[in-house]
Amino acid sequence: MDIHEYQAKSILANFGVAIPRGGLAYSPEQAAYRAREIGGSKWVVKAQVHTGGRGKVGGVKVCEDEEQVFEAANQMFGKRLVTEQTGPDGKFIYRVYVEGAVNIEREIYLAFVLDRKTERIMVVASASGGMEIEEISESHPESIVRSIVEPAAGILDFQAREIAFKLGIASAQIPETVETIKGCYNAFRELDATMVEINPLVVTGEGAIIALDAKMTFDDNALFRHPDISELRDKSQEDLRESQAADRGLSYVALDGQIGCIVNGAGLAMATMDIIEVAGGQPANFLDIGGGASPERVAKAFNLVMADKNVKAILVNIFAGINRCDWVAEGIVQALENNPVDVPVIVRLAGTKVEEGRKILASSGLPIIRAGTLAEAAERSVEAWKNSTKSNPQAQTLQELAS
Ligand code: ADP
Ligand code: MG
Repeated sequence: MDIHEYQAKSILANFGVAIPRGGLAYSPEQAAYRAREIGGSKWVVKAQVHTGGRGKVGGVKVCEDEEQVFEAANQMFGKRLVTEQTGPDGKFIYRVYVEGAVNIEREIYLAFVLDRKTERIMVVASASGGMEIEEISESHPESIVRSIVEPAAGILDFQAREIAFKLGIASAQIPETVETIKGCYNAFRELDATMVEINPLVVTGEGAIIALDAKMTFDDNALFRHPDISELRDKSQEDLRESQAADRGLSYVALDGQIGCIVNGAGLAMATMDIIEVAGGQPANFLDIGGGASPERVAKAFNLVMADKNVKAILVNIFAGINRCDWVAEGIVQALENNPVDVPVIVRLAGTKVEEGRKILASSGLPIIRAGTLAEAAERSVEAWKNSTKSNPQAQTLQELAS
């Protein structure tokens, strides 16, 4: 789960990381008021959206009086900010953060990530801050400092000092830099983050070390341990279908093909997507409904898949190991009887009680296309999609589902 810059800053500040004075605003009036509260003579208005690269596309504006703050905020509210990272749809700006402008002398890149190879938290830093890490690794790969943290000991002072030296920090600022590095590490570790990125961390004209930007991502599977972090979730920044799936306990990733997939098990779901491609179609989604494919889950899955207006056929692929095909078949029949769909549904069942399952589907009277093998199911789905010229009138339900 991602959070906003202002939220990450407030968390990191509690771990001893210095941040500029700032305040959140939901309207241009409030933004101007925040500037007055903060004081000084220069402010930065920052769009709060789950993406980096805001500065390059007008999502970060320096202002010299309250009117400019009002105007900058006014320009941002209600718009979608499209950055290099968001995709063409961009992300909605519902809130802005107003911050005192800092007199920047140097910009540094500082991040904490999970290094899968060593199974450790790794510090990644560079003296060439301000640009994205992808650009740094292209233009100044030699400037990147990497340091693995030993989990039993945590980050030690000497290690943080070594990183600071490699970044060319002057001796007067070493203690503050060490505090910042340790603070970020502790926040990462204690809160089950998967990423903390401060870009840029700046050395100010006055010699202070301040985090001007902050990004944090958390491990979804550990959120149950951190109710205060879970609360920071902002659904307006997520793909609508994915957040609805998460609410229903389904694992869903939206894609842009025509064939909706309802599958049990992540590996089988991946294989289903591949075989659809082989048959000449494209999957509209990844969807793993989990092991216990109960009627309720199957029904939820149909609703979710049908909310995508591109879906022209649905392929249900169930392998019953622990599960039973007859139960799943009953689930499919119930789901389709309660909520008829008007695109072809292709079902392939395999595993425990498969004969009973097939009989249930056959005797249901529903226009289900049955397939024996996965390859056949994929071919039938692609055929059904190519034959269907109808659009999907149930697509409107996406907004209804959201409300
Ligand atoms: P993004 O990474 O999304 O572009 P940042 O918060 O990093 O957004 O801001 C982009 C740039 O704007 C920074 O690299 C920095 O140069 C400048 N900036 C951001 N916040 C401030 C601030 N409080 N004072 C002065 N300059 C700032
Ligand atoms: Mg940044």
